[in-house]
Amino acid sequence: LVYSDSNPLKRVLHADATLDSDGQPIRKKKVVVLGSGWSGYSFLNYLNNPNYDVQVVSPRNFFLFTPLLPSVTNGTVEARSIVEPIRGLMRKKGFEYKEAECVKIDASNKKLHCRSKEGSSLKGTTEFDMDYDILVIAVGAKPNTFNTPGVEEHAYFLKEAEDALNIRHSVIDCFERASLPNLTEEERKKILHFVVVGGGPTGVEFSAELHDFLVQDVAKIYPKVQEFTRITLLEAGDHILNMFDKRITAFAEEKFQRDGIDLKTGSMVVGVTADEISTKERETGKIVSEPYGMVVWSTGIGSRPVIRDFMQQIGQGQRRVLATDEWLRVEGCEDVYALGDTATINQRRVMEDIAAIFSKADKGKTGTLNKKDFNGVVKDICQRYPQVELYLKKNKLKNIAHLLKSANGEDTQVNIENFKQALSDVDSQMKNLPATAQVASQQGKYLAKCFNKMEKCEKKPEGPLRFRGEGRHRFQPFRYRHFGSFAPLGGEQTAAELPGDWVSIGHSSQWLWYSVYASKLNGSVIGTAVNINSTMPSGCSIRALW
Ligand code: FAD
Ligand code: MG
Ligand code: MG
Ligand code: MG
Ligand code: MG
Repeated sequence: LVYSDSNPLKRVLHADATLDSDGQPIRKKKVVVLGSGWSGYSFLNYLNNPNYDVQVVSPRNFFLFTPLLPSVTNGTVEARSIVEPIRGLMRKKGFEYKEAECVKIDASNKKLHCRSKEGSSLKGTTEFDMDYDILVIAVGAKPNTFNTPGVEEHAYFLKEAEDALNIRHSVIDCFERASLPNLTEEERKKILHFVVVGGGPTGVEFSAELHDFLVQDVAKIYPKVQEFTRITLLEAGDHILNMFDKRITAFAEEKFQRDGIDLKTGSMVVGVTADEISTKERETGKIVSEPYGMVVWSTGIGSRPVIRDFMQQIGQGQRRVLATDEWLRVEGCEDVYALGDTATINQRRVMEDIAAIFSKADKGKTGTLNKKDFNGVVKDICQRYPQVELYLKKNKLKNIAHLLKSANGEDTQVNIENFKQALSDVDSQMKNLPATAQVASQQGKYLAKCFNKMEKCEKKPEGPLRFRGEGRHRFQPFRYRHFGSFAPLGGEQTAAELPGDWVSIGHSSQWLWYSVYASKLNGSVIGTAVNINSTMPSGCSIRALW
């Protein structure tokens, strides 16, 4: 509110309120952000628009630097050093934070139903409703069990800071138990059999960390039982790390072999009981059961229940993942954005829009495009359809003009049919973006930048190519820039895959990777992430202190 009285203090307090043309104060638009992970934190960090009232709801009052989470499981890194309290950012930005989980999104009434966590000293929960003008969903995903029986009850996940600490405690439990008297050799072997399910980056990193722990620490701390330890890594597919370059996969598989990690590919887990894990071998179809001491489950991610319910409401019930357009707007409802692991961009096919693209380029409506017409839309096409760039790169073509030429001979006059033919294979290069911190944080930054200039864009909506359903936005669609990926393999060995087909394997890769993060994220996060020497009293639950 703006006060008309002469108290100068009040005027200062309300100095940022703005008036509409009738002299009435304008109510700020309320932006509610769900989640404080890679995408949510990045969005909040880059958001700089005083015209929004920003409220954050997340059950976790910190940002978690997940790439170092596997190192927390064996104590190389303390959990406390990889969290960044959210309150600090809230104070700096003037945003409001509520430590709670959103349990229901009511998109038609623009309302949220939220619930606090059960506290350690406060019993019960508190529930409340909130409304929003704009909703930003950044709740991430949950571990996917594929409904495999017994996983929820008996396996450990590695997703949250608590998970890493629980794993650490469980590993120590296993060693202490196996060191007690009156156990048979078989019993000790069972207790010290560690099974990791899932050969993606997280499962591989965890196996490598665990192996380092067995070699470096257990030899000193539990020398009597060291000979009974075993690590098994189960992967349903043919290879581990199958999203990486083949050289990395091969290197990792060989290294695990040398280390004595029992890698079983083509093994799909069909059930876990308190003592045994059962797999179905793809070759033989046989079910094999093995006793274990601990299982870590890391086979990928799925949608959270609150998102599944929301998808039902907005007609996305048939989909596997919440879909947005390239501007990160959720399809099927108004004023809701989604980013990070919780959503996927529903990329448009060039072929669906080909007539519209052609007629946009064909300014004189002659039915043929000349070089000049064509150059007028090339940039827009490449921006709007990332698959075009991938296709050109794959076929070693410099630009779309080359593509047309290759389809069309020397003739630079193109009609709709040649145009269609030239671009007909381009859509085969469409790819979903991976569920990574890199994608999530870039999306957060992108969306914040859009929000920072929202008013300007609403006033002057004329953008580049506009197709049906694009509304008044004139922003460029989101484009991902790949800065490389990285897989620690234990024993200070790391495999990195960097843009431009540069694969590097060796000692220094890890630091290379951190420097990639450091240059792309804000300093405070990195400052915490690489500060790996601070300690936290054991038995402390994970909660950021400020
Ligand atoms: P998250 O970062 O998971 O954040 C989700 C947020 O939403 C959290 O704050 C959560 O508390 C909150 N939330 C959950 N439910 C609700 C609710 N109902 N209401 C409100 N808030 C809610 N990626 C890389 O690029 N490189 C790596 O090296 C890498 N290593 C990884 C290692 C591990 C062990 C794991 C688990 C992941 C790793 N990733 C890595 C993947 C990366 O962490 C994710 O892709 C990224 O966290 C996704 O960001 P997000 O914002 O979508 O979700
Ligand atoms: Mg998030
Ligand atoms: Mg996170
Ligand atoms: Mg996540
Ligand atoms: Mg995503």
